[in-house]
Amino acid sequence: MKLQKVILYYGFTPLADPEAIHRWQRTLCEHLGLKGRILLSTHGINGTLGGDMSALKKYVRQTKQYPGFRHIDFKWSDGVGSEFSRLRIRVRDEIVSFGAPGELKVDENGVIGGGIHLEPRQVHELVASRGDDVVFFDARNSFEAKIGRFKNAIVPGVQNTRDFVHELESGKYDQLKDRPIVTYCTGGIRCEVLTSVMKNRGFSEVYQIKGGIVRYGERYGDRGLWEGSLYLFDDRMHHEFSTEAKVIGTCERCDAPTSQYYNCANLACRKLILLCASCEQENLSKNCTEAHADFR
Ligand SMILES: [Zn+2]
Ligand SMILES: [Zn+2]
Repeated sequence: MKLQKVILYYGFTPLADPEAIHRWQRTLCEHLGLKGRILLSTHGINGTLGGDMSALKKYVRQTKQYPGFRHIDFKWSDGVGSEFSRLRIRVRDEIVSFGAPGELKVDENGVIGGGIHLEPRQVHELVASRGDDVVFFDARNSFEAKIGRFKNAIVPGVQNTRDFVHELESGKYDQLKDRPIVTYCTGGIRCEVLTSVMKNRGFSEVYQIKGGIVRYGERYGDRGLWEGSLYLFDDRMHHEFSTEAKVIGTCERCDAPTSQYYNCANLACRKLILLCASCEQENLSKNCTEAHADFR
């Protein structure tokens, strides 16, 4: 088998006819034998694809031919070829589901009114100059942060991205409205929307890490402000930046350290469950407990 890779990318740009982009992208991906997921809306594109490195390179070159996609930052990682079982391309109201499609404004330069983008190096400069005043704010679902997060970060209690608007309007974070806030997520896309949602609600000094945890980890590995594993939304499930990565997650049954999520073996549930290797060996359906009740 040829060298397998995975790409992760997004671009916020006005798309007058996302259905036409859909047809073009489908033909392109099928022709190149790529699998994965692409979401399109009038605000842009959000994708993660796996396949042969040579095919992915062709995909990137072709996709950049479209003027609005010329500046997209494609993030590459190693794959094994089985990350995705099929190709799914969809046109939706939003490319990240915040439940606020009418609020987001984009132009050729991306999201209008979002947070200031910081390179990983600039994140450290901000912390050096502002010290403990700087707040790291996790822009992901809370379960992702269980296995990895920035040190001392605030992890909002959200099950999915749709909960953020309500969470921010709850008043819980009002004392942060005048502090420097650095949001972060896997590759940066969720921060693009979250920072604009935050600024619209009175958070005055909002930054986002350019390229997300992926780019930060490439630069600083486990020797910076990040701690633990990065949760991934494909069959790999998690990624460590080095052999020095700390294991900060704990098994939901026995509290042993682990970074491995599994789908609940109860087919009617399938909720993600964080387990150590030995608890995973036992009958997994036993693990479908009260904590999964909301999924039953
Ligand atoms: Zn265990
Ligand atoms: Zn369950």
